[in-house]
Amino acid sequence: MDAERIRLNIANVHQRVSTAAEKVGRRADDVTVMAVSKTRSSDEVRTAVAAGLRDLGENYLQEALEKRQATADLDARWHFIGPIQSNKTRAIAEHFDWVHSVDREKIARRLNEQRPDSLPPLDICLQVNVSLEDSKSGVAPEDLAPLARAILQLPRLRLRGLMAIPAPTDDVAAQRAAFARVAELFRDLQETVPTMDTLSMGMSADLESAIAEGATLVRIGTDIFGPRSG
Ligand SMILES: *Cc1c(COP(=O)(O)O)cnc(C)c1O
Repeated sequence: MDAERIRLNIANVHQRVSTAAEKVGRRADDVTVMAVSKTRSSDEVRTAVAAGLRDLGENYLQEALEKRQATADLDARWHFIGPIQSNKTRAIAEHFDWVHSVDREKIARRLNEQRPDSLPPLDICLQVNVSLEDSKSGVAPEDLAPLARAILQLPRLRLRGLMAIPAPTDDVAAQRAAFARVAELFRDLQETVPTMDTLSMGMSADLESAIAEGATLVRIGTDIFGPRSG
């Protein structure tokens, strides 16, 4: 997509974030917009960063590594947001700033062991599954607290929050109910984990509902870069 269109889309997303935040008495500044750049080119990433977005989300390791190298001059934070296979943890620990999709202790242990000493601890969100009927990725709500406790023992990881991808629906009440459940789990964990400050929820189609329920970071692909092909 051409740069001018991407810039207009980003301005529009910021407007939606402000409107949604104001509606519930929150500050737009308290919501970070992540540009989800999976399948997009390095040039598209450059345009988004030049337009002020500093947080980039990627799902596919190989693609992300190539893009990161091609844009190494940019001041950006890279977030891994896709499913994690064990054989990918080393590269993720070496090349990302954040991981939002941790849902197993085994993966957390590997990331902890493989995080280079030269880098700060890896920032972690636990992916929670609040739509259990079509369970794909994510830890079940009842397994969240034990997983969080295990991660607190891993010194090269810093537990920052929760990430969720509720089942897609056009029903705003259903969107809000799912996000409200994630927010409740987040507040419960915050009581014992003071470093938790990030509630990563909301995508192009449901960012307003997520912000209404307390999202601090929304992950936006389509409404910044256009529809993904394939
Ligand atoms: C692709 C993706 C997004 C962005 O989705 P859009 O609907 O294109 O905004 C957000 N989060 C995750 C985990 C994704 O995989």
